[in-house]
Amino acid sequence: MTTKQNPEIRKDTINNRFVILSPARSRRPSDFKSKSKPESSNGSSSNNATCPFCAGNEHQCAPEIFRSPEDSSSDWKVRVIENLYPALSRDIEAKADDCDQMKEGNFIRTGFGFHDVVIESPVHSVHLPDLSEEGVGGVLLAYKKRLLQLFDVDSISYVQVFKNYGASAGASMSHSHSQILALPVIPTTTSTRLDSMKMYHHQTGKCILCDIQADNLLIDKSTHFMSIAPFASSFAFETWIVPLYHSSHYHEIHEDKAMDLGGLLKLTLQKLSLQLNDPPYNLMIHTSPLRVTSLQLPYAHWYIQIVPQLSTVGGFEMGTGCYINPVFPEDAAKLLREVEVPKKG
Ligand code: AMP
Ligand code: ZN
Ligand code: ZN
Repeated sequence: MTTKQNPEIRKDTINNRFVILSPARSRRPSDFKSKSKPESSNGSSSNNATCPFCAGNEHQCAPEIFRSPEDSSSDWKVRVIENLYPALSRDIEAKADDCDQMKEGNFIRTGFGFHDVVIESPVHSVHLPDLSEEGVGGVLLAYKKRLLQLFDVDSISYVQVFKNYGASAGASMSHSHSQILALPVIPTTTSTRLDSMKMYHHQTGKCILCDIQADNLLIDKSTHFMSIAPFASSFAFETWIVPLYHSSHYHEIHEDKAMDLGGLLKLTLQKLSLQLNDPPYNLMIHTSPLRVTSLQLPYAHWYIQIVPQLSTVGGFEMGTGCYINPVFPEDAAKLLREVEVPKKG
């Protein structure tokens, strides 16, 4: 189906970046499989005797922020804890005069922020897609709850929710978890995305993600969400989950929609695992900055990006910010659409 396809340059108009789609001559899209086992090199925490994230080892963790259910003891389902090795410090006092400083052309700001870990299951061997749809929905609601708490901290501007699965995707712990990093600045990829979405809205009067025609890029649809291979995918089998309704901020999600999203996220992760041999992956929630209200953002629409790690990034990508993707998204979408997930039970 893609053996003689010519390379193509596409532009991701949502993120304002180019991608080179260049089908690998020797490999068909269906031949793409992960070679590295996510569990194989995941550091010391490979069993529940030594893993601080396992139920029973809570005392080995940094302080808990909350757990779900709130009144649970050893039977908790999700725990949100402080990161023992945070990238930013919640203990630095955000001083009134802590504004951006320019020193000889360099930007400096105190490293204040929050870095949390979300433990997605009490059981070491249970990974995110192994949870029930409601279980995945419960993790998604924990993200929402923490985002709402961070919203109350005036100096926090942006919150990144992300998950690294597998050593080559950056994970150091094999127990199922994700992370939440709250920043006092808006990352440049976020402001670039917002500017691009705003430009599209200015030109068309529409939100670019409400306007998306998935067609042959569609993988699956639930009541409120769709999973797609984005038109200008930077990575092989990159998948987005997009709300079918307009929403600028992830934390606006209602409980019923979180449960619906839980089902589609579970299905998507199961399909990627079956198609690509349980690949390492990164998952990111791309939301809007906290200090801007939804009324001010008719053009901004949140989504989830999932990137299976099937290749390494080289000098061309670092130099240009333009990725070379060997799998056309239409082919990736077709393969993922057709994956049959065995029903348990
Ligand atoms: P990752 O490296 O993506 O697997 O994320 C795991 C995170 O858990 C890292 O950022 C670690 O700093 C953090 N971490 C490791 N051990 C603990 C612990 N005992 N309590 C809290 N956080 C931890
Ligand atoms: Zn564990
Ligand atoms: Zn929209």
